[in-house]
Amino acid sequence: MKGAGRYGIRIRMLGIWLLATSPLFVLAVVNGRTERQLLLRDAMSDIRLLARITAEEHRALVRETRQILVVLSQTEAVRKGDAAACERTFRGILEADARYANIGALRPDGDLFASGIPLTEPASAADRAFYRRALESGRFSVGEFHIGEVSRRPVVAFALPVAHDDGRLSCILYAAVDLQHLGTLAQPGGLPEGSSITVFDASGTILIRHPDPEMWIGKEIADQPFYVAARRATDAGVAEETGLDGVRRLYAFSSLIGVSDGEQVILALGVPLESITAEASRVERRNIVVLLIVTVIGAAASFLVGDRWIVRLFGHVYDLSIQDPLTHAYNRRFLYDFGRAICAQAKRSGEPVSAVQLDIDHFKKVNDSKGHSVGDEVLREVARRLRETIRAGDIVARSGGEEFCALLPETGIEEAAGIAERLRAALAGEPAHTSGGLVQVTLSAGVATLHPGQGNFETLLKEADLELYRSKNEGRNRVSSRRWPAR
Ligand code: GH3
Ligand code: MG
Ligand code: MG
Repeated sequence: MKGAGRYGIRIRMLGIWLLATSPLFVLAVVNGRTERQLLLRDAMSDIRLLARITAEEHRALVRETRQILVVLSQTEAVRKGDAAACERTFRGILEADARYANIGALRPDGDLFASGIPLTEPASAADRAFYRRALESGRFSVGEFHIGEVSRRPVVAFALPVAHDDGRLSCILYAAVDLQHLGTLAQPGGLPEGSSITVFDASGTILIRHPDPEMWIGKEIADQPFYVAARRATDAGVAEETGLDGVRRLYAFSSLIGVSDGEQVILALGVPLESITAEASRVERRNIVVLLIVTVIGAAASFLVGDRWIVRLFGHVYDLSIQDPLTHAYNRRFLYDFGRAICAQAKRSGEPVSAVQLDIDHFKKVNDSKGHSVGDEVLREVARRLRETIRAGDIVARSGGEEFCALLPETGIEEAAGIAERLRAALAGEPAHTSGGLVQVTLSAGVATLHPGQGNFETLLKEADLELYRSKNEGRNRVSSRRWPAR
């Protein structure tokens, strides 16, 4: 094959290879995206659930606090205003339940007269929202979230007015709930690394924050897009947002307060998008890298050896196309192509061309007595012997059922007759070994030679046929030959 042709095949092979592999890349990317979306969907429902649980836990805390205050209001110590007895009871609760920052009792004017945490100086809650609300409503009330001055921890106070038997206000019980425990949900083990939990009130003040609470608590975020998104999200809504620290997370927002007169506080649980989709992205990258390697190797192979491969392939296909499948002799079509070509060549060169027509004698009898498949074996054996007997440069083709033709380029009639005789003898000399035993067959042959300017391939075959009929008529297993045109 010429260089340019080889190059053309290489480029085409390369093109075919790249075309064949390109959909795989699209598939890898689409799969990666689908996988990420599935993971995000899973994470969304997980985090939404977690936010709901956290909010529910908080609501439960509000209910429990109310119950504790109601129970306390019935105690002897509170009813009698016994400060020492009250403080003992309050301390007991504080020791038993870490969720409470303090429990205390206020006089109607707001002065603190009993406190679970010992007081060092007189204190008043007169300016606190929980006190005012309890005083005004006469019912269980929730104060504002605020950061404890000493503890720097977020607290919310709940207050319950206690009345004397005659209905006059006796005192106001309050419990300051430490909201810090809500953050424990987001501690390692609960959520993936890089997750955050943020609680902020309606005015945009951060009350709870994990991680880095000291850096964030008390900060105003009302002007941040994160806050706007949180306000927009309905209860347990989920949104992809950039967090206060610049990390993109999947957030679930949940409103925390469970009592109607409390102000709205928002809990935001955030899981970094990167941690959710990391595995899918890693798999996608690996798939693309593997594909790239395969593509490059395949491209190199198609470019470097694709031509050899394709030539071998076409060679194989060509071999099949010119072969008789049963005997592996050349087929009839090739006989004619080759015959016409050598006749044309002979015309130019002035050399003679000879043809030997061969027909197995009484072959029908073989089929009849031994069966068709033994007949096939005999045909294969005949072809093999003919192939082995002719010279290099000559060809043997199966021209029909039990008919063969040998073409002998640059061969005159005497030489051709000699070759025909050798072919005949190759069969007559030894029976064929078949699955049905030894089968003796003979061949009749007709030889003709075409000299330049005398005719074409078809006339050569016709003349050789005439000689073959003569051999049959004269008793078979013989060679007849005549210089053409001799008549
Ligand atoms: P003759 O000496 O006059 O040539 O006698 P013959 O029996 O060989 O002549 P004929 O042409 O009448 O019969 C040829 C037989 O060859 C008939 C057919 O069944 C058989 N034959 C043709 N092709 C195949 C084949 O592929 N396999 C087998 N087993 N037999 C075949
Ligand atoms: Mg025949
Ligand atoms: Mg025959």
